[in-house]
Amino acid sequence: MTDLPPLREVIARHGLTASKALGQNFLFDAQLLARIARVPGDLDGADVLEIGPGPGGLTRALLAAGARVTAIERDHRCIPALAELGDAFPGQLTTIEGDALAIDPRALFDGKPHIVANLPYNVGTALLVSWLSAEWLPWWGSLTLMFQREVADRIVAAPDTDAYGRLAVLSQWRSTPRIAMPVHRSAFTPPPKVMSAVVHIVPTAAPEGVRLATLERLTAAAFGQRRKMLRQSVRGVPGALEGLEAEGIDSARRAERVSVAEFVAVARRLG
Ligand code: SAM
Repeated sequence: MTDLPPLREVIARHGLTASKALGQNFLFDAQLLARIARVPGDLDGADVLEIGPGPGGLTRALLAAGARVTAIERDHRCIPALAELGDAFPGQLTTIEGDALAIDPRALFDGKPHIVANLPYNVGTALLVSWLSAEWLPWWGSLTLMFQREVADRIVAAPDTDAYGRLAVLSQWRSTPRIAMPVHRSAFTPPPKVMSAVVHIVPTAAPEGVRLATLERLTAAAFGQRRKMLRQSVRGVPGALEGLEAEGIDSARRAERVSVAEFVAVARRLG
């Protein structure tokens, strides 16, 4: 690590001015990057899939922790900088130039990689939903993802809060998400308008007899009209009203007051 040139120098030498279109907000603080790299646990010898390495700040920290990193980066300007980093950690870094939304990385790993990413908001959320919708237990070991704080709050939200909704149910019904650390906007170059947070998600055993598609149909209806009573919002979902009754859930309640376990129980009855 100590032999590596400062990230700002790498950026200047490779002309990596931050692109707004690619959602580029870079992290330079080595201590912060090392803390993020510790979130998944001991990475010595572990496989990591990093999405959006950019100039490689977080990648450095992951490599220094002993990880074998496969990194997917869309911006071709970053590839030579990442190649230099690969030379400094022989055999530890594989870089793939491409759009992470269009690449299926599963074939790249024998075991289950930890996924680590600091991505633009829309790309990060789309990938999170696809990773949470994978076959269970999933092909990945854990997710360590930077989000804007508001999205992080929606992922870990409890019932009876404004942040609680479909994303909370999807994130919590067969995983344990937590906010690992808040990250101040001033940590980024250039600083974004909003605060961020690193979210850590570990998959758990899926509840028996529940199909994701059914659970999603139910929560889409329930939260699609979140201020309405359930008897109104879910009546288009066949069997949902009967399921609520069978589970002893008052259909005068609103979606935001229904726990993840209750949604799961109703979805199980719908088959
Ligand atoms: N990881 C670096 C850091 O922490 O300093 C860069 C973070 S920057 C917020 C997001 C990175 O994701 C950029 O390098 C950008 O080019 C890359 N990126 C954006 N969309 C992408 C996509 N669809 N697939 C792969 N990389 C993408």
